[in-house]
Amino acid sequence: MNPRFAFALLPLALAAGVASAQDASPAGDPKATEQWTPVPPVVTPGRSDAAPPSDAIVLFDGRNLDQWEASKDHSPARWKVHDGVATVDKATGNIQTRRRFGSYQLHLEWRVPEGITGDGQARGNSGVFLASTGPGDEGYEIQILDSYRNTTYVNGQAASIYKQAPPRVNAMRPPGQWQSYDIVWTAPVFGADGTLKSPAYVTVLHNGVLVQDHVRLAGETFYIGQPKYKPYDRAPIKLQAHGDPSQPISFRNIWVRPLD
Ligand code: MG
Repeated sequence: MNPRFAFALLPLALAAGVASAQDASPAGDPKATEQWTPVPPVVTPGRSDAAPPSDAIVLFDGRNLDQWEASKDHSPARWKVHDGVATVDKATGNIQTRRRFGSYQLHLEWRVPEGITGDGQARGNSGVFLASTGPGDEGYEIQILDSYRNTTYVNGQAASIYKQAPPRVNAMRPPGQWQSYDIVWTAPVFGADGTLKSPAYVTVLHNGVLVQDHVRLAGETFYIGQPKYKPYDRAPIKLQAHGDPSQPISFRNIWVRPLD
């Protein structure tokens, strides 16, 4: 066999193996995929300003969520828009773009409310799913969380590729201040028969600081179980309405530049 072809099939074989084990025990143990050390060093970010470039598709400019829909039923997104920001409405669930994307550059800004309460994953949890492959939390998540002096498993802190890769450093600003993500997403490519032809890669800057450097993904990001790929073509970008009881976070200035 062509060695390159064999290499491409390897993750699929591994994924098939863990998929059956995972299906046999759907409850599973979420701790099995938590990594706690080493803890990424803290870096204080500089100030940044990221107005949309001229060729960007503006997904949210502070006025309305016309570019977004509820993930569960494709009805209009009902998160609250006020004072130029959109705030998560946990009651109405995840929202996603009406448009679908392949590879792209994405900018978004998010803010944990001042006075946030809670600990670990239950403190300002949200997330940006770079390709949403289902109505729930399916897809490829870059974690959004209050990781300013808040300990959790490092591959679940802010700017992690959830349960796959911790950020290289912790560039978190304190609650009440705006944070930015600048993300370059190279979408996975699948053959007509659903086999993985090319894996996904992601580069992430958090507050202008490089935290994920062209990291190869092992598949979709799961709360329980190992990552695995599921074929898709183009997919929406999704924002998570996480069920934790802490105060909801807000978003502003979201734009995307398709790269294919
Ligand atoms: Mg999350």
